[in-house]
Amino acid sequence: MSHAPQPPRALAEAATAAHAWLASLDTRPVNATHDVDQVEAALARPFPQQGADPADVVRELVAAATPGLVATPSGRYFGWVRGGVLDSALAADWLTAAWDQNASLLAGSPAGAAVERVATTWLLDALHLPPTAAVGFVTGGQMANFTCLAAARHAVLARAGWDVERDGLLGAPAPGVFVGAERHVTVDLALRYLGLGQSRSVVVAADDQGRLRPDALEQALAADEQGHPGRPRIVVLQAGDVHSGAFDPGEAVAIAHRYGAWVHVDGAFGLWAAASPRHRHLTAGLEGADSWATDAHKTLNVPYDSGLAIVADPAALHAAMGERAAYLIQDERPDPLAAVPEFSRRARGFTVWAALRELGRDGLAAMVAGFADHAARFARELAALDGVTVVNDVVYTQVCVAFRGDVETRAVAAALLREGTTWMTPSTWRGRSVLRVSVSNARTDDDDVARAIAALTRVLGEVRAG
Ligand SMILES: *Cc1c(COP(=O)(O)O)cnc(C)c1O
Repeated sequence: MSHAPQPPRALAEAATAAHAWLASLDTRPVNATHDVDQVEAALARPFPQQGADPADVVRELVAAATPGLVATPSGRYFGWVRGGVLDSALAADWLTAAWDQNASLLAGSPAGAAVERVATTWLLDALHLPPTAAVGFVTGGQMANFTCLAAARHAVLARAGWDVERDGLLGAPAPGVFVGAERHVTVDLALRYLGLGQSRSVVVAADDQGRLRPDALEQALAADEQGHPGRPRIVVLQAGDVHSGAFDPGEAVAIAHRYGAWVHVDGAFGLWAAASPRHRHLTAGLEGADSWATDAHKTLNVPYDSGLAIVADPAALHAAMGERAAYLIQDERPDPLAAVPEFSRRARGFTVWAALRELGRDGLAAMVAGFADHAARFARELAALDGVTVVNDVVYTQVCVAFRGDVETRAVAAALLREGTTWMTPSTWRGRSVLRVSVSNARTDDDDVARAIAALTRVLGEVRAG
């Protein structure tokens, strides 16, 4: 007599808990109810001598962790720049773990490598980037910036006759690095990883929306050419400022290229504007750059951790990241490990492919445009409240609001996080305290936006009533 095999109880427990979590998102507060110390206390004990049943382990974890979970995938979560999770991408993520493919070699996982190839083709098409570019499936925007800038470092030094992979940086011609005043911190950290120093860059002035000023870039490059004729140069632009959502102007690419620079674009969430016909103008010109960093776990709504390092010249990426060893089964064609800093890693193509397949071109355009439309509604309705100012030009998914002075803004931000209906996060932008609203979750609908605005209005009233 044969029975269909039962799935392991631990997996059934996990699926049940995952469903319960997802089903709770519409009604539960965004807040965690337990802080880090409380969650730790619920689990803290000496390392057990005896093991436990896998299903019991899952139950124990769910019971202890759930009160300490922040509802990041909630439609009312507008903190930092996060992004939700599409069903297909979540399911593909579960399979990625179950299949447990090591995505380093073509021979090690034909499926892992093949799906990355298809996802690469679709991604470049969706983002209107050169179809011959190479993509490294990395952990996030930080590593995408690092990976792309490693390719940049390779290429500009190779042009100057220096092999940085073989000989390192000691004695190398010093590259000039140019960054915008409102670059993301991960750009500085990537430069630090690369031995280029996080504080040696020339900082190019930005305008009142955080956009790098082309005239200031031209001036900085011209001065650099005077001081160091023909030296290797890297210019880092940004698509999507975390405060304003603004995009550096595409004309900066041509200016930088005139001075022989490699142009890298940090487009962690902004690059996706290119997928929406109504927003594509924001990225105009940036497709002419040499490399682009973006996230799949933000705007594309793929689970963590998923970033994309896109390099127009595959040889530069492979030179910077490739390695060969006798014990590997390597191909004439570049293995996936030649596009990323990792050696062994999970097969990140499955989730990216699934999200793009679920959405299609139209669905992706509608999702991105929907984020921007929700942001525009936040801006409209919040600006109509008494003593509330929207401080940025809302062109994309980011809205920064200020209340009656920094003290009130900080009080509202703190009270809103405590109240828990919605998360919007505090920041300082252009010398002013702001509350930042970032829309990047496919789950967010009109009702979520209305509930978030109502909660903010209520909290503002309470703060003003003292
Ligand atoms: C989020 C972000 C990053 C870093 O991406 P991670 O995925 O968090 O590593 C870099 N640049 C910008 C503009 C971002 O918004």
